[in-house]
Amino acid sequence: MKFDILTLFPEMFNSYLNESILKRAQKNKIIKIKLHNIRDFSKDKHKKTDDTPYGGGAGMVMTPQPLYDAIKYVKRTNKGPVIYMSPKGPKLTHTRAKRYATGTKSFILLCGRYEGIDERIRELLIDEEISIGDYVLTGGELPAMVFIDAVSRFIPGVLHDKDSAEEDSFSRKLGGKKEYPHYTKPAEFKGLKVPAVLTSGNHKEIEKWRKKHLK
Ligand code: SAM
Repeated sequence: MKFDILTLFPEMFNSYLNESILKRAQKNKIIKIKLHNIRDFSKDKHKKTDDTPYGGGAGMVMTPQPLYDAIKYVKRTNKGPVIYMSPKGPKLTHTRAKRYATGTKSFILLCGRYEGIDERIRELLIDEEISIGDYVLTGGELPAMVFIDAVSRFIPGVLHDKDSAEEDSFSRKLGGKKEYPHYTKPAEFKGLKVPAVLTSGNHKEIEKWRKKHLK
């Protein structure tokens, strides 16, 4: 699976995407992530990428030229959908993340900044918009990382245990519910004991307890 990310702040991705599970997935060539700085595509002599909104109002808007050229450039080698991270889009869910992981081989993720992108880019080049929740962030970089993380968990080979994502909260196996509580050693901590059934070795009873504690 390939992700091309278009952003004004490529450095923001380095620490998160280059640690732990996503680092290993890239090393094992299961996922490939490429960052592109939108500013590099600006034809403005000061490399400007934003301007004031027509009609007035607060904030700046990302200008169409650098976005158009950057997306067109990436589309030459990535035939996947162009997804604009946006609070106006439908929300990323467990089901949607799983569908993305199984249905498509590559994605182009566009991270907005300021008040967002010029509407003509949305009309011309955006295939989908995705929101990570009903709140507004300062940019699309965190949403793009959330998207890659959530989708990657469903790609075979990314997680150590191949069934893990299928047993997580919201999965079909849990009937769409949220997972039961987890305990590990020690058996008692600050006076709180692990429920006896979990140390009983009785798998049928453990299964029953876990089912009862789904939310
Ligand atoms: N003016 C826009 C509005 O009210 O809908 C918000 C712009 S926001 C400050 C800047 C950028 O952050 C957006 O263009 C988008 O790329 C990203 N963003 C902010 N919140 C987001 C969310 N909940 N989900 C996905 N992207 C988001």
